[in-house]
Amino acid sequence: MFETKLLGIDENSVNTAAELIKAGEVVGIPTETVYGLGANAFDEEAVRKIFAAKGRPADNPLIVHVSDFDEISPLVTEIPALAKKCAEKFWPGPLTMIMPKSDKIPMVTSGGLDTVGIRMPSNKIARAIIKASGCPIAAPSANLSGSPSPTTAQHVFADMNGRIPAIVDGGACGVGVESTVISFEGDGIRLLRPGFVSVEDLKEITENVLVDKGVLEMLGEGAKVMSPGMKYKHYAPKADVTIIDGSSHEFNAFIKANADAEDVVMHFTDNDVSGLSQRRICLGATDEEQAQRLFDALRELDEMGAKTVYARCPRKTGVGLAVYNRLLRAAAFRVIKL
Ligand code: AMP
Ligand code: MG
Repeated sequence: MFETKLLGIDENSVNTAAELIKAGEVVGIPTETVYGLGANAFDEEAVRKIFAAKGRPADNPLIVHVSDFDEISPLVTEIPALAKKCAEKFWPGPLTMIMPKSDKIPMVTSGGLDTVGIRMPSNKIARAIIKASGCPIAAPSANLSGSPSPTTAQHVFADMNGRIPAIVDGGACGVGVESTVISFEGDGIRLLRPGFVSVEDLKEITENVLVDKGVLEMLGEGAKVMSPGMKYKHYAPKADVTIIDGSSHEFNAFIKANADAEDVVMHFTDNDVSGLSQRRICLGATDEEQAQRLFDALRELDEMGAKTVYARCPRKTGVGLAVYNRLLRAAAFRVIKL
């Protein structure tokens, strides 16, 4: 097995990454959300390598990344008026917009759909790599399918060593959860995946924002899936995670009454764990801290050998909704409401 190269942040690594992408290879790249596995979105062969490296089901579409708004016109047959408004407000940034795709986007990239999800990252290294590659970059999160998304180059290395030629190390991701995914319906917005751009943020564009059922519910077998990523079990550590929905005080009392000595507690503040003897991981008090820490914490649970984990329930508003959505999947939708 060959060893994947870890490239530091400098002009050389941007060029090396771009040369690899031009040559039809897959590269681990930093973005503000999570690390991506990037390849030329127009190159079917290169895009197939992404699916192979991740072990990702072929019907799960990739997000196409651009470095400038003008780069999207050849990729789509139509740019909805609301998409222009959203781009003005939230790009560059963690918002993916689904639009009808043009023939330039191969079906492999769109996971067989006639739409394409597009975003312009705010991470400067990511945009420099896109510019230097001279093509839009298709990139899913750079983890093995089913594992927590990577928020450091080391996470990518752990999953991808020997599977891709190189990773550009841009440090820890600032946002920590994947982009908000939206589609447009009439004069409204449908939220398919919550992220750092929140429902409240989107409502500044239009009051007509619908949160898709799949954001908070487990979709049944026959359910119509708008965004194929929603079907699969995701982000799961090896441990059984249960979300405990209650106040800090209620959480603390629940752990005292129910947890065993070897269980692990995932909490937000010192108050949550006062007087407890269990091993613990702290995500921080704010939604933003929790988002930034979550995936690293899920990987840490595996390193600790955790078997049973009790996690405090994130807020269901603002950026908290994105944290809750990911934690629900890591917990296989097990929630105890106090
Ligand atoms: P990730 O692997 O975390 O980058 O996630 C990519 C996700 O974006 C997919 O799993 C979908 O949920 C969503 N997505 C991308 N393109 C589309 C599309 N054309 N239609 C619906 N959802 C999409
Ligand atoms: Mg992913």
